[in-house]
Amino acid sequence: MPKQARLSGIKSYRCYTLKEAAALVGVSPRTIRNWIRDGLQLLDASYPPLIRGDDLRAHINAQREGRKVKTGLCEFYCLRCRACRGPAGAMADYEITGNKAMLTAICDVCETLMCKPVSLTSLSAIRAKLDLTIKRDELAL
Ligand SMILES: [Zn+2]
Repeated sequence: MPKQARLSGIKSYRCYTLKEAAALVGVSPRTIRNWIRDGLQLLDASYPPLIRGDDLRAHINAQREGRKVKTGLCEFYCLRCRACRGPAGAMADYEITGNKAMLTAICDVCETLMCKPVSLTSLSAIRAKLDLTIKRDELAL
Protein backbone atom coordinates (compact mmCIF):
# COMPACT_ATOMS: atom_id res chain seq x y z
CA MET A 1 0.00 0.00 0.00
CA PRO A 2 1.49 3.35 -1.00
CA LYS A 3 2.18 5.98 1.58
CA GLN A 4 -0.75 8.31 2.09
CA ALA A 5 -0.06 11.91 1.10
CA ARG A 6 -0.58 14.42 3.89
CA LEU A 7 -3.20 17.10 3.38
CA SER A 8 -2.60 19.02 6.57
CA GLY A 9 -0.34 21.99 6.16
CA ILE A 10 -1.29 22.74 2.57
CA LYS A 11 -2.19 26.41 2.35
CA SER A 12 -4.83 27.03 -0.31
CA TYR A 13 -3.52 30.32 -1.64
CA ARG A 14 0.16 29.56 -1.43
CA CYS A 15 2.14 28.38 -4.41
CA TYR A 16 4.66 25.62 -4.07
CA THR A 17 7.56 24.45 -6.17
CA LEU A 18 7.64 20.73 -6.92
CA LYS A 19 10.21 20.20 -4.18
CA GLU A 20 8.25 22.18 -1.62
CA ALA A 21 5.03 20.38 -2.53
CA ALA A 22 6.74 17.00 -2.29
CA ALA A 23 8.21 17.76 1.14
CA LEU A 24 4.93 19.21 2.37
CA VAL A 25 2.75 16.21 1.54
CA GLY A 26 5.45 13.63 2.17
CA VAL A 27 5.95 12.14 -1.28
CA SER A 28 8.89 12.25 -3.69
CA PRO A 29 9.28 15.01 -6.32
CA ARG A 30 8.97 12.16 -8.83
CA THR A 31 5.45 11.47 -7.50
CA ILE A 32 4.54 15.14 -7.89
CA ARG A 33 5.73 15.01 -11.50
CA ASN A 34 3.54 11.94 -12.03
CA TRP A 35 0.60 13.84 -10.57
CA ILE A 36 1.22 16.71 -13.00
CA ARG A 37 1.25 14.21 -15.86
CA ASP A 38 -2.01 12.80 -14.47
CA GLY A 39 -3.64 16.21 -14.48
CA LEU A 40 -2.48 18.14 -11.41
CA GLN A 41 -2.72 21.76 -12.52
CA LEU A 42 0.23 24.08 -12.57
CA LEU A 43 -0.24 27.75 -11.76
CA ASP A 44 0.83 28.80 -15.25
CA ALA A 45 3.59 28.13 -17.72
CA SER A 46 6.23 29.80 -15.53
CA TYR A 47 9.51 28.17 -14.68
CA PRO A 48 10.13 26.71 -12.19
CA PRO A 49 6.64 25.22 -12.23
CA LEU A 50 4.43 26.28 -9.33
CA ILE A 51 1.47 24.48 -7.88
CA ARG A 52 -1.30 26.23 -6.01
CA GLY A 53 -2.12 24.77 -2.61
CA ASP A 54 -5.79 24.27 -3.38
CA ASP A 55 -5.00 22.50 -6.67
CA LEU A 56 -2.62 20.22 -4.81
CA ARG A 57 -5.21 19.42 -2.17
CA ALA A 58 -7.94 18.85 -4.78
CA HIS A 59 -5.69 16.47 -6.67
CA ILE A 60 -4.89 14.41 -3.58
CA ASN A 61 -8.57 14.28 -2.64
CA ALA A 62 -9.56 13.21 -6.14
CA GLN A 63 -6.91 10.50 -6.00
CA ARG A 64 -8.28 9.17 -2.73
CA GLU A 65 -11.73 8.96 -4.26
CA GLY A 66 -10.24 7.26 -7.26
CA ARG A 67 -8.64 4.62 -5.10
CA LYS A 68 -11.97 2.84 -5.12
CA VAL A 69 -12.35 -0.55 -6.68
CA LYS A 70 -11.13 -1.11 -10.21
CA THR A 71 -14.00 -2.31 -12.34
CA GLY A 72 -13.87 -4.42 -15.45
CA LEU A 73 -15.43 -3.35 -18.74
CA CYS A 74 -18.82 -4.81 -17.89
CA GLU A 75 -18.69 -4.12 -14.16
CA PHE A 76 -19.73 -1.08 -12.19
CA TYR A 77 -18.90 0.54 -8.92
CA CYS A 78 -22.13 0.37 -6.92
CA LEU A 79 -22.41 3.40 -4.66
CA ARG A 80 -24.70 1.62 -2.22
CA CYS A 81 -22.71 -1.62 -1.99
CA ARG A 82 -19.46 0.34 -2.18
CA ALA A 83 -18.11 -2.46 -4.25
CA CYS A 84 -17.64 -3.70 -7.76
CA ARG A 85 -20.88 -5.24 -9.04
CA GLY A 86 -22.22 -6.82 -12.16
CA PRO A 87 -25.41 -5.68 -13.91
CA ALA A 88 -28.58 -7.56 -12.93
CA GLY A 89 -29.60 -10.02 -15.63
CA ALA A 90 -26.50 -9.02 -17.61
CA MET A 91 -28.58 -6.16 -18.99
CA ALA A 92 -27.54 -2.57 -19.49
CA ASP A 93 -28.48 0.59 -21.34
CA TYR A 94 -25.88 2.08 -23.61
CA GLU A 95 -26.75 5.70 -24.21
CA ILE A 96 -24.82 7.52 -26.87
CA THR A 97 -24.50 11.30 -26.65
CA GLY A 98 -22.30 12.85 -29.28
CA ASN A 99 -19.02 10.96 -29.19
CA LYS A 100 -19.49 9.65 -25.66
CA ALA A 101 -21.54 6.88 -24.18
CA MET A 102 -22.97 6.15 -20.76
CA LEU A 103 -23.49 2.60 -19.62
CA THR A 104 -26.31 2.20 -17.10
CA ALA A 105 -27.40 -0.92 -15.26
CA ILE A 106 -29.02 -2.16 -12.08
CA CYS A 107 -26.83 -3.61 -9.34
CA ASP A 108 -27.25 -7.37 -9.19
CA VAL A 109 -27.05 -7.27 -5.40
CA CYS A 110 -28.95 -4.21 -4.16
CA GLU A 111 -30.77 -3.07 -7.34
CA THR A 112 -29.36 0.45 -7.20
CA LEU A 113 -28.91 2.19 -10.53
CA MET A 114 -25.26 2.25 -11.52
CA CYS A 115 -23.69 4.06 -14.42
CA LYS A 116 -20.33 4.84 -15.89
CA PRO A 117 -18.99 6.62 -18.94
CA VAL A 118 -17.53 4.35 -21.57
CA SER A 119 -15.86 4.98 -24.89
CA LEU A 120 -17.74 4.36 -28.10
CA THR A 121 -15.01 1.98 -29.22
CA SER A 122 -15.95 -0.33 -26.35
CA LEU A 123 -19.44 -0.98 -27.74
CA SER A 124 -18.76 -4.25 -29.52
CA ALA A 125 -16.81 -5.67 -26.57
CA ILE A 126 -19.59 -4.76 -24.13
CA ARG A 127 -22.28 -6.00 -26.51
CA ALA A 128 -20.59 -9.38 -26.61
CA LYS A 129 -21.03 -9.75 -22.86
CA LEU A 130 -24.18 -7.85 -21.98
CA ASP A 131 -27.70 -7.60 -23.29
CA LEU A 132 -27.63 -3.96 -24.35
CA THR A 133 -30.38 -1.50 -25.09
CA ILE A 134 -28.75 1.13 -27.25
CA LYS A 135 -30.13 4.65 -27.06
CA ARG A 136 -29.04 7.60 -29.07
CA ASP A 137 -29.35 11.23 -28.12
CA GLU A 138 -31.80 12.84 -30.57
CA LEU A 139 -29.49 15.78 -31.11
CA ALA A 140 -26.67 13.54 -32.23
CA LEU A 141 -28.64 12.11 -35.14
ZN1 LIG B 1 -25.28 -2.58 -5.06
